[in-house]
Amino acid sequence: MNYKINKEGFYGDFGGAFIPEMLYHNTHELKENYLKIIQKESFQKEFKELLKEYVGRPTPLYFAKRLSKKYNTNIFLKREDLNHTGAHKINNTIGQILVAKHMGKKRIIAETGAGQHGVATATVCALMDLECIVYMGEIDIKRQAPNVARMKMLGAEVRPAVSGSKTLKDATNEAIRDWIANPTDTYYLIGSVVGPHPYPDMVAQFQSVISKEMLSQLKEKTGRNYPDKIIACVGGGSNAAGAFYHYIENTKVELIAVEADGLGVQTNKTAATTQVGSEGIIHGSKTLLMQNKEGQITEPYSISAGLDYPGIGPLHAHLFKTGRGVFLGATDKEALDAAFELTKLEGIIPALESAHALAALKKIECKPDENIVINLSGRGDKDMETYIKMM
Ligand SMILES: *Cc1c(COP(=O)(O)O)cnc(C)c1O
Repeated sequence: MNYKINKEGFYGDFGGAFIPEMLYHNTHELKENYLKIIQKESFQKEFKELLKEYVGRPTPLYFAKRLSKKYNTNIFLKREDLNHTGAHKINNTIGQILVAKHMGKKRIIAETGAGQHGVATATVCALMDLECIVYMGEIDIKRQAPNVARMKMLGAEVRPAVSGSKTLKDATNEAIRDWIANPTDTYYLIGSVVGPHPYPDMVAQFQSVISKEMLSQLKEKTGRNYPDKIIACVGGGSNAAGAFYHYIENTKVELIAVEADGLGVQTNKTAATTQVGSEGIIHGSKTLLMQNKEGQITEPYSISAGLDYPGIGPLHAHLFKTGRGVFLGATDKEALDAAFELTKLEGIIPALESAHALAALKKIECKPDENIVINLSGRGDKDMETYIKMM
């Protein structure tokens, strides 16, 4: 089985670039340049230096002793929560801002739902002194006031999307409209392994630093450079893609992706795309998405804002369809329980998104001689309001 992306940007049946004619120039320019830029020595030098000095990499691979004891296995946490700005998202925004600079772009646009990607984008724009415009649904702006304030303090302009449901997909439409109107000086910075080719591949490459570090960290701690299982949560799928990347061809490693079941997949309050979704086109890419009979995207739901996305990236659709990835779901309640459990046992308050990955421990078979890596994608500071309500 082949899990690599082909020239047209497909993973098996999924991916590609299904875009309006007017975006052809923009995506074509990026497609023609991204690999050349990323492979340049000067790019790699600056990228690695920033990941080390600015983001704080490598992140530790922490052996969680008490959690391991509880589940009678060996659990390692990949500590993406310790990155600057509190999650894995900065790995990608650092990479893309350098691509934008190499392409001579002066103006950065992005969309954001909960504001996490918006903050990571505004951060690197401040760092590089580039103009930053973040599109955000009007409803999300009200729901996510602290992140809106952060973006503004970082110098970004937050533009409300006032059409449709006034949430993420409407912000995406506005960003695409902006990109069409400004084809020469503007770079569109996408926050996950979604969107038209080459974004899914480019973002996966930037996040692959996660599994790259795991290779040597596992070798040092266990004598073997691969674990038996890797567990990661999936919204669009970027932290999971990064944690799986260097192990996709190694079929000795079980890849476990955890989606947000929300209130349960039987209710319509869910974001479990592989369970309730079907094949179609979202954000310029052929993949699995949640849609109604007319092909209209349905509004997803999850307690965690980062998993509240109605699709998954094309790589994950391919991993799902081929059976290479095991896809599980965790409800709001299961994720909350897992967050409190990790906090009590290890003194680490996880992001609600990452708590979905932790919740999978109750759904899989754990063996005493196995090594399991859980990608702890982010820290829980942003979720304190939700946690406090549950106490
Ligand atoms: C945004 C986010 C996610 C979900 O995005 P992916 O692209 O699926 O990784 C997961 N965890 C945290 C902490 C996030 O901020």
